Amino acid sequence: MTSATAPHYSLYIDGQWVDTGENYEIRSPATEELVATVAKGGTSHVDSAVAAAQAAFDAGTWRRTPPAERAALINTVGERLAARGDELAILQSRENGATIRITGALHVGLSAAQLQYVAAIAQGYEWETTGPAIEPVKADGIIVREPIGVVAAIVPWNIPLLTTVWKIGPALVAGNSVVLKPDEHAPLLPIELAREFEAAGIPPGVLNIVTGDGEPVGAHLSGHPGVRKVAFTGSTAVGKSILRQSADSIRRVTLELGGKGANIILDDADIDMAVDGALFACMANNGEACEAGTRLLIPAGRRDEIIDKLVARGETLQLGNPIEPTTHVGPIITALQRDRILEYFQVAQDEGATLALGGKSPSGAGFDKGYWIEPTIFVDVTNDMRIARDEVFGPVLVVLTYDSVDEAVKIANDTNYGLSAGVWGSEDTALDVARRLDAGMVWVNNWHVLHPAYPFGGYKESGLGREGGPDAINEYVEEKFISIDRSGGIENKAFAIVIDPTA
Ligand code: NAD
Repeated sequence: MTSATAPHYSLYIDGQWVDTGENYEIRSPATEELVATVAKGGTSHVDSAVAAAQAAFDAGTWRRTPPAERAALINTVGERLAARGDELAILQSRENGATIRITGALHVGLSAAQLQYVAAIAQGYEWETTGPAIEPVKADGIIVREPIGVVAAIVPWNIPLLTTVWKIGPALVAGNSVVLKPDEHAPLLPIELAREFEAAGIPPGVLNIVTGDGEPVGAHLSGHPGVRKVAFTGSTAVGKSILRQSADSIRRVTLELGGKGANIILDDADIDMAVDGALFACMANNGEACEAGTRLLIPAGRRDEIIDKLVARGETLQLGNPIEPTTHVGPIITALQRDRILEYFQVAQDEGATLALGGKSPSGAGFDKGYWIEPTIFVDVTNDMRIARDEVFGPVLVVLTYDSVDEAVKIANDTNYGLSAGVWGSEDTALDVARRLDAGMVWVNNWHVLHPAYPFGGYKESGLGREGGPDAINEYVEEKFISIDRSGGIENKAFAIVIDPTA
């Protein structure tokens, strides 16, 4: 089934655009209009894509291309993405409901910058290092950093392009072959990216895209015996299943998982700024961000003042069509996810939390189609409540109070997650608190500050490994130590320790 008006996207396997006879309909979560149709892949397409990726790897065209040329191609793709920024930002907003205020700068702009950054660091990367002379056996040593093989990249729907380039940028620049599985709700920008790689001249089979449901297609890919590394962004539950799946073959794994970011307002913070910052931390990308600040910790003595300001500012947030520049918060990705959030609202109130803002799915003009949750704030929350422990993944902020900075740090760290955190206050005190927080990213007097040159990833159940940053390529290479004998003869070798060379 294809539409006369909506564009169609296919799978990309071995340099060919492939249809499957079955399609997904991608519909706007705000208007339910048809945005595109996308070929729906199955496990046999995964098998074909892995075989194509392996064949390309074995043929060696890409991995033997000098790193500077690989980097130049990736840089070109970054430039092409940037040049299509406005168009792709609109497409992203229509597809997954992220607001146009954020899809340009974050989804597309940062992705383009990320590709250009990895291309730049590849130029200075030590693909081969000569080490010190080895004594007393008399040998030289080199360390070779070479591609791993076929890499599976599996990404979610909330920030699809950035989570894709974090993986395939360093994987490709290192000479690996890639099979990418986008999320079934938001595959369009990853496929647009593949089109740019094709246009830039990536050899067939080096980058492949197979859409498909998590089960069975994602699971088939992540457990495929031909895959030597899995790079995954998504839920902690699926991340754990991928880690278990990878145990038998000791497959390399990078995981970027969920979060429950603690945002601490210290007593000496600029409260007005911190309140705006807390809403930004939680509500950006419709609250569908793994590194959102979803637990706000405030001094008990300032409770009423801060909550009053938070609710007053929260009331000014415009919920609506993500394409409108006046919209601050867009729709929820699916009806299922909206209903899950509504269930959390009930649980929160049953456990004793007090609703201070929002708390329902709106109705009326503008909300008759699509899936909506009002920007919501719960107060009187304690850290044992489910609303404080689980990742809700929507525009839902919970507010907890603390009596001392030590208690704030204890509450912040009392979570299975460890992706992000933030502190608002005078710089010295806030920095001291930042150093005590168990999180992969901590923002002082801001939130969502991401940059290609800094690593992204989490402590504890928020992940394994890091994406981006100066060491991004290390996640996609094997290190090989080669030693070359310089002893000059059998009599000088270490053989004598165990074998008498004169015997
Ligand atoms: P999800 O884990 O259900 O899906 C993510 C991807 O995995 C999709 O492509 C899906 O099709 C695939 N998948 C599903 N089941 C699979 C399986 N058994 N085996 C292999 N692949 C499978 O995640 P979601 O709920 O759709 O996405 C939101 C989650 O992603 C949130 O938990 C969020 O915190 C997380 N996330 C993390 C980061 C990060 O970098 N830490 C970034 C964005 C999103």
